[in-house]
Amino acid sequence: MFKLKGTEMNTQQATSLKDLQARYPYQFKDPELGIALAKGWVVVFAQLCADVDQVLGQDKRGFHWSQVKNKFGSGRFYFQFTGRQPDLRLDIQMPGGVLSQVVPFERRIRSDQDRSFEQVKTAIQRLAMLAEVATKRVCLVCGKEASQDAGTGYVLVLCPEHRAQRQQPEGLHPFWETLRDDKDDEV
Ligand SMILES: [Zn+2]
Repeated sequence: MFKLKGTEMNTQQATSLKDLQARYPYQFKDPELGIALAKGWVVVFAQLCADVDQVLGQDKRGFHWSQVKNKFGSGRFYFQFTGRQPDLRLDIQMPGGVLSQVVPFERRIRSDQDRSFEQVKTAIQRLAMLAEVATKRVCLVCGKEASQDAGTGYVLVLCPEHRAQRQQPEGLHPFWETLRDDKDDEV
């Protein structure tokens, strides 16, 4: 859908959360609940940030990521618009997987402006969900093709190499990048 020419070369250069923050400062203005991005998700998230930027166009509408995290073996990309109530996100764990739904907070559409906002919000929601699905198939550590590994109990999406490394005594090297950390240390 929002595959736009010219963005691909642009996103290839982003190799870290800090790169993305520098490129789209408004998207990282107030991450109320914090951002924890796995290193392996950078390519997926960079594409998402670029697509969101294109969907918003000139008017950024106070858009920002409110929380990025790992949940049920995939990335979660939650966003808000400053001054608007966020939609409620419901996750229901089912035998076959997790059912994820968005429950809109309000749907009072009274003007063309409201309608245009709703369209933008829905388009971004769809992009975020597609990115979440994409993270189910990339290694948290390196971004290569991967699948879920229950390992010692906690489900992580890992490629064969990092799955093997997880079994080693030293385990996996830190692979989380968080936002409000200026000292560049890992969590
Ligand atoms: Zn890997």
